[in-house]
Amino acid sequence: GERTPSDLNALADEYLRLSFHGIRAKDKTFNADFKTDFDPSLPLVTIASQDVGRVFLNIVNNAFYACADYSKKLKNQVNLEDESLKNYIPCVKVTTRNISGTGVISISDNGPGIPENIREKIFQPFFTTKPTGMGTGLGLSLSYDIIKAHGGKIDLISEEGKGTEFIITLPLDRK
Ligand code: ADP
Ligand code: MG
Repeated sequence: GERTPSDLNALADEYLRLSFHGIRAKDKTFNADFKTDFDPSLPLVTIASQDVGRVFLNIVNNAFYACADYSKKLKNQVNLEDESLKNYIPCVKVTTRNISGTGVISISDNGPGIPENIREKIFQPFFTTKPTGMGTGLGLSLSYDIIKAHGGKIDLISEEGKGTEFIITLPLDRK
């Protein structure tokens, strides 16, 4: 797409809400929370905003899906050993930071985490752990390509039982 100076905070916020309301519209029982913390010092960045928006949407959709699904699994468990999980509330957090010449967008969730043996595979096209019809396995592979085309990168931090964080780093415009 065409690259124009864009507000990453507004874009991240827009797609977070789009994702939340989209899932909510299809599933009335969806009860996840979300939080934001946007860095107001982030300058406009020249990007293909529709493409980068799709990346946000993919990653945020994944995050909501992961923790909402986790919540359902926990509710169906009769003998929950961990007391703290009884009051589990799915939550997705989106933050932005201006870190030494880069715009850093973090999308984290308190879902099940990504098992170590599949962490390598999730960026591959068609890799999915979702039931048939629920996922194409193309979201992260496409996201990786879009961010790479912008000279950026996507890092992954995940711990089983704790959650997952995707960190998108985009170079800021040269002054
Ligand atoms: P899809 O969403 O269609 O499955 P993606 O490329 O978006 O395809 O994601 C690939 C896989 O990565 C998912 O099926 C899931 O196993 C894993 N994944 C992605 N995001 C998360 C997350 N936030 N928590 C747990 N697993 C995740
Ligand atoms: Mg996906």
